[in-house]
Amino acid sequence: MPTAPPDGAPLRVLVVGADAAGMSAAHQALRTARRTGRRIEVAVLEAGEDTSYSACGIPYVASGEVADTEALVVRTAVEHRAAGIDLRFGARVTHLDLERRLAQVAGGSAVEFDEVVVATGANPVVPPWAHVDGVAVEGVHHAKTLRDADTWSRRFASGGRVAVVGGGYIGVEMAEAAVRRGLHVTLVTRSRVLSTFAPEISAVVVEGLRAAGVEVLEHSTVEGLEVEDGAVRALRLGEGTVAADHVVVALGVTPATDLLAHTGLLSPGGGLRPDERGQVVPGVWAAGDCCEVRSRTGFWTYAPLGTHAAKAGRVVGENVAGGDLRFAGMVGSAITRFAPGTVHLEIARTGILDAQAAADPSLDPVVVVTDGTTASGYMPEAAPITLRVSADRTTRRLLSVEIVGGPGAGKRVDTAAAVLWYDGTVDDLAWMDLSYAPPVATAWEVLQIAARRVAERIDRAARA
Ligand SMILES: Cc1cc2nc3c(=O)[nH]c(=O)nc-3n(C[C@H](O)[C@H](O)[C@H](O)COP(=O)(O)OP(=O)(O)OC[C@H]3O[C@@H](n4cnc5c(N)ncnc54)[C@H](O)[C@@H]3O)c2cc1C
Repeated sequence: MPTAPPDGAPLRVLVVGADAAGMSAAHQALRTARRTGRRIEVAVLEAGEDTSYSACGIPYVASGEVADTEALVVRTAVEHRAAGIDLRFGARVTHLDLERRLAQVAGGSAVEFDEVVVATGANPVVPPWAHVDGVAVEGVHHAKTLRDADTWSRRFASGGRVAVVGGGYIGVEMAEAAVRRGLHVTLVTRSRVLSTFAPEISAVVVEGLRAAGVEVLEHSTVEGLEVEDGAVRALRLGEGTVAADHVVVALGVTPATDLLAHTGLLSPGGGLRPDERGQVVPGVWAAGDCCEVRSRTGFWTYAPLGTHAAKAGRVVGENVAGGDLRFAGMVGSAITRFAPGTVHLEIARTGILDAQAAADPSLDPVVVVTDGTTASGYMPEAAPITLRVSADRTTRRLLSVEIVGGPGAGKRVDTAAAVLWYDGTVDDLAWMDLSYAPPVATAWEVLQIAARRVAERIDRAARA
C-alpha cells in the first residue's frame, strides 16, 4: 500500500522511464501540484542517456529529410532539470518493491518513493537470427531509439542494399527512408504488408511499394543470415537468399515490464492495464507503451502509439498530484505514409479490426470498398483514393474506416474517428456537414460517398 508522507513532507513521486509518457507525467505532476498547492518531489530514473525525443521521427532522420537527431528532441535534460525534475540517466530499474516502496537500480543503489509511475515503454522484438553465437551481427538493427536514428542515417548514407524485415508501419516507413536515399530495398514479411488493414487496402500499398522500386516478398520467413567477417551479407529465406548490407528489423515491440514481473500485475501479453485515471493499484501508476490501451467499447489492445503515451502520461501526472483527469480510451486510429518521391500514399485506419468484429456475435458487419478522388476530378490536385467502410447491419453503427490514397487522403480518417468516438452511425458520417472546395474535396466528399454506399447496401438488403 502507498505510504502517505509524514505531515508537511513532500510527496515523493518516482517516474521510471524518461520519454513521452514519463516526462509528460513528470511535468503535469509539477503543474498540477503548483495549482493544488501540494508539495511534491519528482525524480525520474532513465536507463539510457536520452529523454523526450520523437521516436516517430526516426524514419525521417534515416531518410535525410530531418538533418539530425537533435531535431527530434522535444525537451532536453537541461530543460527538464530547470523545471525542477530530478532526472537521472544511466539508472535502469531492475525491480520495483511495491511493499517497501523501493526501486532497485542496476549497480546496487535503491530509490524510495511514495508513488511510482511506470513509463518504461517497449522493447523491440529481436529474432534469434539477428545474433550469431550470441553476438549481434553488424548491419542488423532495429529502429527504436534516438541512437538508432543516427545509425540508420549513417548506414543509409553509405550506400548498399537494404532488407527491411517486417511489413508493419515502421517497416513501410523505413523502406521509404531507404528508397529516398536511392538504395535498393527488399521488404520481407511473414504475412501481408500492413496486415492490420484489409487485403484491398494493403494491395494498393504493395502496388505503391513496387512502383517505387521496392521488392516486396509477402508470406516469406527469414530463416537466417549469411555473415562475412561479422557483417551481414544476405538474408536466408525458405525460397532463396536476398543480398543485404543493412537489415532493418521491424518486427514490433513488447511491453518493457520486467521490473514488475514478480507482481502478478501484468496481462497475459505482459502489459499493464491501468484504470482510466492511470492507476494500476493504489500508488502504482502507468502510461505509454508498457501498457495496453482500453478501447471506448471496453476491450484491451496493445497499441503502442505516441499519441496514447502523451495523453496517458498527462492523465497520470495530473492524478498523481491530486487532480482528476480520465484517459478517454481509443477507437483504433493510426496513420502512416509511403512517399519516396515517385509515389505518394497516405494510409490510415480507425475502428475495430475485422477479426475483433468477427469475434463479437452481436455484430453483423456490412463492408463496401469505394474508389474516388481526393479533389474534384478537373483539378490538378486530384489523386486516387480507396476507402473501405464497415458498419453494423442492425444498428447501422460505424465499425471501421480504412483509407489509402494520394496527398490529403490520410487525415480524412479523423472525421470517421470522430463519428466512432461519439458512437455514430454510417448515416451520421454520410450526411454530416463537411467542408468542400475543388482543390481539396469533391462536392459529394468521397468519405461520405463511401459511407452512403454502406447505408444503401444495408437498405437494399433490408428491402430484399
Ligand atoms: C520508428 C518509430 C516510429 C513511430 N511512429 C509513430 C507514429 O507515427 N505515431 C505514433 O503515434 N507513434 C509512433 N511510434 C510509437 C511511439 O514512438 C511510442 O508509442 C512512444 O515513444 C512511447 O513512449 P513511451 O514513453 O511509452 O516509451 P518509450 O519511448 O519506449 O520510452 C521508455 C523509456 O523508458 C526507459 N526504460 C525502459 N525500461 C527502463 C527501466 N527498467 N528503468 C529505467 N528506464 C527504463 C527507456 O530507456 C526509454 O527511454 C513510433 C515508434 C517508432 C520506434
